[in-house]
Amino acid sequence: MNRKEISASIITIGDELLIGQVIDTNSAWIAQELNKIGIPVKRRVAVGDSFNEIWSALDEESTHADIILITGGLGPTSDDITKPLLCKYFNGKMIINDEALQNVKYLFEQVFKRPLIESNLKQGEVPDVCTVIQNKRGTAPGMWFEKEGKIFISLPGVPHEMKGMITDSVLPKFSSLFSLAPIIHKTLLTAGVGESFLAEQLKEFEAQLPSSIKLAYLPSYGMVRLRLTSSESEKEINNQFDKLQSLVKEYLVTNVDESMAETVAKLLLRQNKTLSTAESCTGGYIAHLITAIPGSSEYYKGGVISYAYEAKENLLGVSPDTLTTFGAVSEETVKEMLTGALRELNTDYSIAVSGIMGPGGGMPEKPVGTVWVAVGDKTAIRTHKFTFRFDRMKNIELTAINALNLLRKFIIDK
Ligand code: ATP
Repeated sequence: MNRKEISASIITIGDELLIGQVIDTNSAWIAQELNKIGIPVKRRVAVGDSFNEIWSALDEESTHADIILITGGLGPTSDDITKPLLCKYFNGKMIINDEALQNVKYLFEQVFKRPLIESNLKQGEVPDVCTVIQNKRGTAPGMWFEKEGKIFISLPGVPHEMKGMITDSVLPKFSSLFSLAPIIHKTLLTAGVGESFLAEQLKEFEAQLPSSIKLAYLPSYGMVRLRLTSSESEKEINNQFDKLQSLVKEYLVTNVDESMAETVAKLLLRQNKTLSTAESCTGGYIAHLITAIPGSSEYYKGGVISYAYEAKENLLGVSPDTLTTFGAVSEETVKEMLTGALRELNTDYSIAVSGIMGPGGGMPEKPVGTVWVAVGDKTAIRTHKFTFRFDRMKNIELTAINALNLLRKFIIDK
Protein backbone atom coordinates (compact mmCIF):
# COMPACT_ATOMS: atom_id res chain seq x y z
CA MET A 1 0.00 0.00 0.00
CA ASN A 2 1.16 3.51 -0.72
CA ARG A 3 1.61 5.63 2.41
CA LYS A 4 -0.95 8.18 1.23
CA GLU A 5 -3.62 5.48 1.26
CA ILE A 6 -3.12 4.40 4.86
CA SER A 7 -5.56 5.73 7.39
CA ALA A 8 -7.09 4.43 10.59
CA SER A 9 -10.35 4.47 12.45
CA ILE A 10 -10.70 3.71 16.15
CA ILE A 11 -13.69 1.99 17.74
CA THR A 12 -13.85 2.03 21.53
CA ILE A 13 -16.33 -0.35 23.12
CA GLY A 14 -18.11 -0.17 26.46
CA ASP A 15 -21.35 1.09 27.99
CA GLU A 16 -19.17 2.88 30.55
CA LEU A 17 -17.90 5.16 27.78
CA LEU A 18 -21.41 6.09 26.69
CA ILE A 19 -22.69 6.94 30.15
CA GLY A 20 -19.60 9.01 30.78
CA GLN A 21 -18.38 6.85 33.66
CA VAL A 22 -15.05 6.28 31.92
CA ILE A 23 -13.48 8.91 29.72
CA ASP A 24 -12.17 7.49 26.46
CA THR A 25 -8.46 8.15 26.79
CA ASN A 26 -7.58 5.04 24.77
CA SER A 27 -8.44 6.50 21.39
CA ALA A 28 -6.69 9.80 22.14
CA TRP A 29 -3.50 7.91 23.00
CA ILE A 30 -3.77 5.59 19.98
CA ALA A 31 -4.38 8.57 17.68
CA GLN A 32 -1.23 10.27 18.96
CA GLU A 33 0.88 7.14 18.47
CA LEU A 34 -0.45 6.51 14.96
CA ASN A 35 0.14 10.14 14.02
CA LYS A 36 3.75 9.89 15.13
CA ILE A 37 4.42 7.14 12.62
CA GLY A 38 2.46 8.80 9.83
CA ILE A 39 -0.96 7.13 10.00
CA PRO A 40 -3.72 9.71 10.22
CA VAL A 41 -6.85 8.81 12.16
CA LYS A 42 -9.98 9.52 10.12
CA ARG A 43 -12.60 8.82 12.76
CA ARG A 44 -13.07 7.85 16.41
CA VAL A 45 -16.28 6.10 17.39
CA ALA A 46 -17.51 4.89 20.79
CA VAL A 47 -20.17 2.18 20.98
CA GLY A 48 -21.88 0.36 23.84
CA ASP A 49 -21.70 -3.34 24.69
CA SER A 50 -24.27 -4.15 22.03
CA PHE A 51 -23.79 -6.82 19.38
CA ASN A 52 -25.62 -4.86 16.69
CA GLU A 53 -23.86 -1.56 17.44
CA ILE A 54 -20.41 -3.15 17.34
CA TRP A 55 -21.22 -5.04 14.13
CA SER A 56 -22.48 -1.88 12.39
CA ALA A 57 -19.45 0.07 13.60
CA LEU A 58 -17.14 -2.52 12.01
CA ASP A 59 -19.06 -2.31 8.74
CA GLU A 60 -19.16 1.47 8.81
CA GLU A 61 -15.54 2.15 9.82
CA SER A 62 -14.16 -0.24 7.23
CA THR A 63 -15.66 2.03 4.57
CA HIS A 64 -13.62 4.97 5.92
CA ALA A 65 -10.20 3.57 6.81
CA ASP A 66 -7.65 0.86 6.01
CA ILE A 67 -6.94 -0.01 9.63
CA ILE A 68 -9.70 -0.40 12.20
CA LEU A 69 -8.44 -0.46 15.79
CA ILE A 70 -10.86 -1.69 18.42
CA THR A 71 -10.42 -1.52 22.21
CA GLY A 72 -12.54 -3.04 24.97
CA GLY A 73 -15.00 -5.83 25.48
CA LEU A 74 -12.47 -8.65 25.63
CA GLY A 75 -12.76 -9.61 29.28
CA PRO A 76 -14.20 -12.80 30.76
CA THR A 77 -17.38 -11.13 32.00
CA SER A 78 -20.72 -11.65 30.26
CA ASP A 79 -20.88 -8.08 28.98
CA ASP A 80 -17.68 -8.67 27.03
CA ILE A 81 -19.04 -9.73 23.68
CA THR A 82 -16.40 -8.55 21.25
CA LYS A 83 -14.48 -11.81 20.84
CA PRO A 84 -17.41 -14.05 19.82
CA LEU A 85 -18.71 -11.24 17.63
CA LEU A 86 -15.38 -10.92 15.82
CA CYS A 87 -15.31 -14.69 15.38
CA LYS A 88 -18.66 -14.53 13.61
CA TYR A 89 -17.79 -11.34 11.68
CA PHE A 90 -14.71 -12.97 10.18
CA ASN A 91 -16.32 -16.43 9.73
CA GLY A 92 -14.02 -18.20 12.14
CA LYS A 93 -14.41 -20.74 14.90
CA MET A 94 -13.05 -20.51 18.40
CA ILE A 95 -9.91 -22.48 19.15
CA ILE A 96 -7.51 -22.57 22.05
CA ASN A 97 -4.35 -20.60 21.36
CA ASP A 98 -1.56 -22.29 23.30
CA GLU A 99 0.51 -19.20 23.86
CA ALA A 100 -2.48 -17.17 25.08
CA LEU A 101 -3.56 -20.02 27.39
CA GLN A 102 -0.06 -20.38 28.84
CA ASN A 103 -0.04 -16.64 29.45
CA VAL A 104 -3.34 -16.82 31.39
CA LYS A 105 -2.04 -19.76 33.47
CA TYR A 106 1.27 -18.03 34.12
CA LEU A 107 -0.41 -14.80 35.26
CA PHE A 108 -2.83 -16.59 37.62
CA GLU A 109 -0.30 -19.02 39.06
CA GLN A 110 2.82 -16.85 39.26
CA VAL A 111 1.66 -13.23 39.35
CA PHE A 112 -1.89 -12.95 40.76
CA LYS A 113 -1.45 -16.15 42.82
CA ARG A 114 -5.17 -16.93 42.51
CA PRO A 115 -6.94 -20.12 41.38
CA LEU A 116 -8.03 -20.21 37.76
CA ILE A 117 -11.73 -20.53 37.04
CA GLU A 118 -13.44 -21.69 33.85
CA SER A 119 -14.10 -18.16 32.55
CA ASN A 120 -10.40 -17.30 32.85
CA LEU A 121 -9.44 -20.30 30.74
CA LYS A 122 -11.76 -18.99 28.03
CA GLN A 123 -9.36 -16.09 27.62
CA GLY A 124 -7.00 -18.52 25.92
CA GLU A 125 -9.57 -18.96 23.14
CA VAL A 126 -9.41 -16.92 19.94
CA PRO A 127 -11.01 -17.16 16.49
CA ASP A 128 -8.92 -19.43 14.22
CA VAL A 129 -8.89 -16.68 11.55
CA CYS A 130 -6.83 -14.19 13.57
CA THR A 131 -3.18 -13.72 14.40
CA VAL A 132 -2.78 -13.42 18.15
CA ILE A 133 -1.14 -10.34 19.66
CA GLN A 134 0.34 -11.39 22.97
CA ASN A 135 -0.62 -9.46 26.09
CA LYS A 136 2.23 -9.50 28.61
CA ARG A 137 0.32 -7.34 31.08
CA GLY A 138 -3.07 -9.09 31.22
CA THR A 139 -5.04 -12.16 30.33
CA ALA A 140 -6.97 -11.01 27.24
CA PRO A 141 -5.03 -11.63 24.01
CA GLY A 142 -5.21 -9.13 21.18
CA MET A 143 -6.33 -10.22 17.70
CA TRP A 144 -5.26 -9.16 14.20
CA PHE A 145 -7.69 -9.89 11.35
CA GLU A 146 -7.52 -9.08 7.66
CA LYS A 147 -10.51 -8.88 5.36
CA GLU A 148 -10.88 -7.42 1.87
CA GLY A 149 -7.63 -5.46 2.17
CA LYS A 150 -8.51 -3.98 5.56
CA ILE A 151 -6.80 -4.69 8.87
CA PHE A 152 -8.87 -5.06 12.03
CA ILE A 153 -7.09 -5.14 15.39
CA SER A 154 -8.89 -5.87 18.62
CA LEU A 155 -7.20 -5.02 21.92
CA PRO A 156 -8.28 -5.02 25.58
CA GLY A 157 -9.83 -1.86 27.02
CA VAL A 158 -7.51 -1.68 30.04
CA PRO A 159 -5.25 1.24 29.07
CA HIS A 160 -1.87 -0.08 30.21
CA GLU A 161 -2.46 -3.46 28.56
CA MET A 162 -3.59 -1.84 25.31
CA LYS A 163 -0.64 0.58 25.31
CA GLY A 164 1.88 -2.19 25.86
CA MET A 165 0.50 -4.22 22.96
CA ILE A 166 0.40 -1.24 20.60
CA THR A 167 3.98 -0.28 21.45
CA ASP A 168 5.45 -3.79 21.52
CA SER A 169 3.61 -5.37 18.60
CA VAL A 170 1.22 -3.24 16.56
CA LEU A 171 3.36 -0.20 15.72
CA PRO A 172 6.45 -2.23 14.77
CA LYS A 173 4.25 -4.36 12.50
CA PHE A 174 2.76 -1.28 10.80
CA SER A 175 6.24 0.15 10.27
CA SER A 176 7.41 -3.07 8.64
CA LEU A 177 4.28 -3.38 6.45
CA PHE A 178 3.96 0.19 5.18
CA SER A 179 6.38 2.81 4.01
CA LEU A 180 5.27 5.66 6.23
CA ALA A 181 6.36 9.26 6.49
CA PRO A 182 5.69 10.66 9.94
CA ILE A 183 3.24 13.52 10.29
CA ILE A 184 5.20 16.42 11.74
CA HIS A 185 3.63 18.50 14.50
CA LYS A 186 5.29 21.61 15.92
CA THR A 187 3.58 23.11 18.94
CA LEU A 188 4.13 26.23 21.03
CA LEU A 189 2.31 27.58 24.06
CA THR A 190 1.22 31.17 24.58
CA ALA A 191 -0.12 32.80 27.75
CA GLY A 192 -1.78 36.11 28.49
CA VAL A 193 -3.63 36.45 25.21
CA GLY A 194 -7.03 35.20 24.01
CA GLU A 195 -7.63 32.88 21.08
CA SER A 196 -9.59 35.41 18.99
CA PHE A 197 -6.95 38.11 19.50
CA LEU A 198 -4.25 35.67 18.41
CA ALA A 199 -6.30 34.61 15.37
CA GLU A 200 -6.61 38.25 14.35
CA GLN A 201 -2.86 38.78 14.74
CA LEU A 202 -2.05 35.63 12.77
CA LYS A 203 -4.46 36.24 9.88
CA GLU A 204 -1.74 37.09 7.38
CA PHE A 205 0.54 34.32 8.60
CA GLU A 206 -2.26 31.80 8.13
CA ALA A 207 -3.05 33.12 4.65
CA GLN A 208 0.53 32.66 3.44
CA LEU A 209 0.86 29.07 4.78
CA PRO A 210 1.38 26.44 2.06
CA SER A 211 -1.64 24.17 1.71
CA SER A 212 0.33 21.23 3.16
CA ILE A 213 0.71 23.04 6.52
CA LYS A 214 -2.22 23.53 8.87
CA LEU A 215 -2.40 25.83 11.90
CA ALA A 216 -4.54 24.78 14.88
CA TYR A 217 -5.55 26.79 17.96
CA LEU A 218 -5.90 24.73 21.13
CA PRO A 219 -7.03 26.91 24.03
CA SER A 220 -6.98 25.61 27.60
CA TYR A 221 -6.48 27.00 31.11
CA GLY A 222 -6.48 30.57 29.83
CA MET A 223 -3.55 29.79 27.52
CA VAL A 224 -3.45 28.94 23.85
CA ARG A 225 -1.40 26.20 22.23
CA LEU A 226 -0.62 26.76 18.54
CA ARG A 227 0.17 23.72 16.45
CA LEU A 228 1.50 23.48 12.91
CA THR A 229 1.02 20.13 11.16
CA SER A 230 2.55 18.86 7.96
CA SER A 231 3.20 15.49 6.37
CA GLU A 232 5.45 16.94 3.68
CA SER A 233 8.61 18.95 4.19
CA GLU A 234 10.33 19.21 7.56
CA LYS A 235 12.33 22.21 6.34
CA GLU A 236 9.22 24.15 5.35
CA ILE A 237 7.40 23.47 8.63
CA ASN A 238 10.52 24.56 10.56
CA ASN A 239 10.62 27.82 8.57
CA GLN A 240 6.97 28.51 9.24
CA PHE A 241 7.37 27.61 12.91
CA ASP A 242 10.22 30.13 13.25
CA LYS A 243 7.98 32.80 11.72
CA LEU A 244 5.15 31.87 14.06
CA GLN A 245 7.41 32.07 17.10
CA SER A 246 8.60 35.53 16.23
CA LEU A 247 5.01 36.70 15.66
CA VAL A 248 3.91 35.59 19.13
CA LYS A 249 7.17 36.12 21.01
CA GLU A 250 5.53 38.52 23.48
CA TYR A 251 3.25 35.74 24.72
CA LEU A 252 5.47 32.73 24.15
CA VAL A 253 5.79 30.31 27.09
CA THR A 254 7.52 27.40 25.39
CA ASN A 255 8.20 26.25 21.83
CA VAL A 256 7.85 22.55 22.57
CA ASP A 257 4.77 20.49 23.32
CA GLU A 258 5.11 20.26 27.08
CA SER A 259 3.09 21.09 30.17
CA MET A 260 3.51 24.30 32.17
CA ALA A 261 5.03 22.24 35.01
CA GLU A 262 7.61 20.82 32.58
CA THR A 263 8.52 24.31 31.37
CA VAL A 264 9.05 25.46 34.96
CA ALA A 265 11.00 22.30 35.74
CA LYS A 266 13.40 22.96 32.85
CA LEU A 267 13.96 26.53 34.06
CA LEU A 268 14.75 25.38 37.58
CA LEU A 269 17.07 22.65 36.35
CA ARG A 270 18.91 25.06 34.07
CA GLN A 271 19.46 27.46 36.97
CA ASN A 272 20.10 24.71 39.49
CA LYS A 273 17.43 26.16 41.81
CA THR A 274 14.99 24.52 44.19
CA LEU A 275 11.25 24.93 44.68
CA SER A 276 8.70 24.44 47.47
CA THR A 277 4.94 24.95 47.57
CA ALA A 278 2.42 26.15 50.14
CA GLU A 279 -1.05 25.17 49.02
CA SER A 280 -4.43 25.82 50.51
CA CYS A 281 -7.21 25.67 47.91
CA THR A 282 -5.37 23.37 45.50
CA GLY A 283 -4.77 20.77 48.22
CA GLY A 284 -1.48 19.54 46.80
CA TYR A 285 -2.45 19.65 43.12
CA ILE A 286 0.51 21.90 42.25
CA ALA A 287 2.82 19.50 44.05
CA HIS A 288 1.23 16.64 42.11
CA LEU A 289 1.81 18.35 38.74
CA ILE A 290 5.45 18.89 39.65
CA THR A 291 6.12 15.45 41.10
CA ALA A 292 4.44 13.73 38.14
CA ILE A 293 7.50 14.76 36.12
CA PRO A 294 10.31 12.19 36.27
CA GLY A 295 13.41 13.63 37.94
CA SER A 296 11.48 16.27 39.95
CA SER A 297 13.43 15.40 43.10
CA GLU A 298 16.32 17.36 41.53
CA TYR A 299 14.54 20.67 42.15
CA TYR A 300 11.37 20.11 44.20
CA LYS A 301 11.93 19.82 47.94
CA GLY A 302 8.35 19.51 49.13
CA GLY A 303 5.20 21.34 50.06
CA VAL A 304 2.79 22.14 52.84
CA ILE A 305 -0.93 21.63 52.40
CA SER A 306 -2.15 24.27 54.80
CA TYR A 307 -5.90 24.04 54.43
CA ALA A 308 -7.10 25.18 57.86
CA TYR A 309 -6.11 28.34 59.74
CA GLU A 310 -4.17 26.21 62.30
CA ALA A 311 -2.12 24.60 59.54
CA LYS A 312 -1.28 27.99 58.05
CA GLU A 313 -0.23 29.22 61.50
CA ASN A 314 1.51 26.10 62.84
CA LEU A 315 3.21 24.80 59.73
CA LEU A 316 4.00 28.03 57.89
CA GLY A 317 4.03 30.63 60.65
CA VAL A 318 1.23 32.75 59.17
CA SER A 319 0.24 35.26 61.85
CA PRO A 320 -3.22 34.79 63.42
CA ASP A 321 -3.67 38.57 63.15
CA THR A 322 -3.17 38.43 59.39
CA LEU A 323 -5.73 35.66 59.10
CA THR A 324 -8.36 37.41 61.19
CA THR A 325 -7.76 40.87 59.75
CA PHE A 326 -7.44 40.01 56.05
CA GLY A 327 -8.83 36.45 55.86
CA ALA A 328 -7.26 33.26 54.52
CA VAL A 329 -7.88 34.35 50.92
CA SER A 330 -5.84 37.51 50.86
CA GLU A 331 -2.62 38.93 49.53
CA GLU A 332 -1.21 39.25 53.05
CA THR A 333 -1.87 35.58 53.85
CA VAL A 334 -0.33 34.16 50.66
CA LYS A 335 2.75 36.34 51.19
CA GLU A 336 3.21 34.92 54.68
CA MET A 337 2.54 31.39 53.43
CA LEU A 338 5.25 31.91 50.82
CA THR A 339 7.77 33.26 53.33
CA GLY A 340 6.98 30.33 55.62
CA ALA A 341 7.51 27.76 52.86
CA LEU A 342 10.80 29.35 51.76
CA ARG A 343 11.99 29.25 55.36
CA GLU A 344 10.69 25.83 56.43
CA LEU A 345 11.67 24.02 53.26
CA ASN A 346 14.76 26.12 52.61
CA THR A 347 14.29 26.53 48.85
CA ASP A 348 15.28 29.18 46.32
CA TYR A 349 11.72 29.71 45.08
CA SER A 350 8.26 28.99 46.36
CA ILE A 351 4.62 29.20 45.28
CA ALA A 352 1.72 29.91 47.67
CA VAL A 353 -1.98 29.79 46.81
CA SER A 354 -5.19 30.43 48.72
CA GLY A 355 -8.64 30.76 47.19
CA ILE A 356 -12.33 29.86 47.19
CA MET A 357 -12.91 27.00 44.79
CA GLY A 358 -16.68 26.66 45.23
CA PRO A 359 -19.41 25.81 44.87
CA GLY A 360 -19.97 27.26 48.40
CA GLY A 361 -17.90 29.64 50.50
CA GLY A 362 -18.20 32.74 48.33
CA MET A 363 -18.73 36.18 49.85
CA PRO A 364 -19.80 39.43 48.18
CA GLU A 365 -16.28 40.86 48.35
CA LYS A 366 -14.65 37.48 47.65
CA PRO A 367 -16.84 35.47 45.29
CA VAL A 368 -16.25 31.82 44.37
CA GLY A 369 -13.21 31.66 42.11
CA THR A 370 -11.24 34.34 43.98
CA VAL A 371 -7.65 33.15 44.29
CA TRP A 372 -4.55 34.86 45.62
CA VAL A 373 -1.21 33.56 44.40
CA ALA A 374 2.25 34.53 45.60
CA VAL A 375 5.52 33.48 44.01
CA GLY A 376 8.99 34.55 44.91
CA ASP A 377 12.28 34.01 46.63
CA LYS A 378 13.97 35.37 49.75
CA THR A 379 14.48 38.81 48.15
CA ALA A 380 11.22 39.48 46.32
CA ILE A 381 7.59 38.40 46.24
CA ARG A 382 5.13 38.83 43.39
CA THR A 383 1.40 38.43 43.99
CA HIS A 384 -1.62 38.19 41.75
CA LYS A 385 -5.35 37.98 42.33
CA PHE A 386 -7.25 35.75 39.93
CA THR A 387 -11.01 35.51 39.57
CA PHE A 388 -11.98 32.21 38.01
CA ARG A 389 -15.59 31.39 37.24
CA PHE A 390 -15.74 27.67 36.72
CA ASP A 391 -16.53 24.58 38.76
CA ARG A 392 -14.38 23.44 41.65
CA MET A 393 -12.06 21.10 39.75
CA LYS A 394 -11.51 23.48 36.86
CA ASN A 395 -10.81 26.33 39.32
CA ILE A 396 -8.21 24.13 41.03
CA GLU A 397 -6.56 23.31 37.69
CA LEU A 398 -6.59 26.94 36.59
CA THR A 399 -5.07 28.04 39.89
CA ALA A 400 -2.26 25.51 39.59
CA ILE A 401 -1.36 26.28 35.96
CA ASN A 402 -1.54 30.04 36.45
CA ALA A 403 0.50 29.90 39.66
CA LEU A 404 3.21 27.95 37.81
CA ASN A 405 3.09 30.48 34.99
CA LEU A 406 3.47 33.34 37.49
CA LEU A 407 6.55 31.63 38.91
CA ARG A 408 7.91 31.10 35.38
CA LYS A 409 7.61 34.81 34.65
CA PHE A 410 9.14 35.72 38.01
CA ILE A 411 12.19 33.53 37.30
CA ILE A 412 12.61 34.85 33.75
CA ASP A 413 12.31 38.48 34.82
CA LYS A 414 14.94 38.16 37.55
P1 ATP B 1 -11.40 -6.71 31.10
O1 ATP B 1 -10.75 -8.00 30.80
O2 ATP B 1 -10.78 -6.03 32.30
O3 ATP B 1 -12.90 -6.75 31.19
P2 ATP B 1 -11.75 -5.52 28.49
O4 ATP B 1 -10.87 -5.67 27.33
O5 ATP B 1 -13.03 -6.26 28.45
O6 ATP B 1 -10.98 -5.77 29.84
P3 ATP B 1 -13.30 -3.32 29.17
O7 ATP B 1 -14.04 -4.23 30.09
O8 ATP B 1 -14.02 -2.72 28.06
O9 ATP B 1 -12.02 -4.03 28.61
O10 ATP B 1 -12.57 -2.19 30.01
C1 ATP B 1 -11.78 -2.48 31.15
C2 ATP B 1 -11.46 -1.17 31.82
O11 ATP B 1 -10.55 -0.44 31.00
C3 ATP B 1 -12.66 -0.25 32.01
O12 ATP B 1 -13.32 -0.42 33.23
C4 ATP B 1 -12.04 1.10 31.93
O13 ATP B 1 -11.58 1.49 33.21
C5 ATP B 1 -10.87 0.93 31.02
N1 ATP B 1 -11.23 1.35 29.66
C6 ATP B 1 -11.94 0.68 28.74
N2 ATP B 1 -12.06 1.35 27.59
C7 ATP B 1 -11.41 2.52 27.80
C8 ATP B 1 -11.17 3.67 26.97
N3 ATP B 1 -11.62 3.73 25.72
N4 ATP B 1 -10.45 4.68 27.50
C9 ATP B 1 -9.98 4.61 28.77
N5 ATP B 1 -10.17 3.56 29.58
C10 ATP B 1 -10.87 2.53 29.11
